[in-house]
Amino acid sequence: MATWQCVERCGACCHLDPSDRPDLEDYLTPEELQQYLSMVGPDGWCINYDADRRKCRIYDDRPRFCRVRPDVFADLYGIEPEELDEFAIECCEQQIEGVYGDRSLELVRFRQAVGIVEG
Ligand code: SF4
Ligand code: SF4
Repeated sequence: MATWQCVERCGACCHLDPSDRPDLEDYLTPEELQQYLSMVGPDGWCINYDADRRKCRIYDDRPRFCRVRPDVFADLYGIEPEELDEFAIECCEQQIEGVYGDRSLELVRFRQAVGIVEG
C-alpha cells in the first residue's frame, strides 16, 4: 500500500490560488480562511514560499491547514487516520498535476516516493 510522504523540491501545495480551490470555506474556519487569503501572493503562490529553493520560509510556524497530520485531516476533511495516506496522496497528485502538469518530473518523483507503481 502506498504511504504518503512529502518530497523535496516540490512545493505544489504552496500554490494557493483560491480559484483552484473553490471549497476553501467548507473546511477552513473564518479565521483560517482570512489567514489563507492573506498569504496568497499576486502570482498565486504563498508569500512565505521560497520559489528558488522550493521551501517554506516559515515551516516550523506554518498554519494548521498546511500540515498533513491525522488530527488536522480528521478535523478539516473528516478523514479517518486509516484513510490519511490515500487521501493525502490524492491531494498531492491533484495539486502537482495542476501546478506542474500530469507528465511532470515532480509527479513522477512523488509517485515513486510514495510507492505508486506505474503499470
Ligand atoms: S504537493 Fe505534496 S509532495 Fe508536493 S510539497 Fe506539497 S505536500 Fe509535499
Ligand atoms: S505557509 Fe509554508 S507550507 Fe504553507 S503554503 Fe505557505 S509556503 Fe507552503
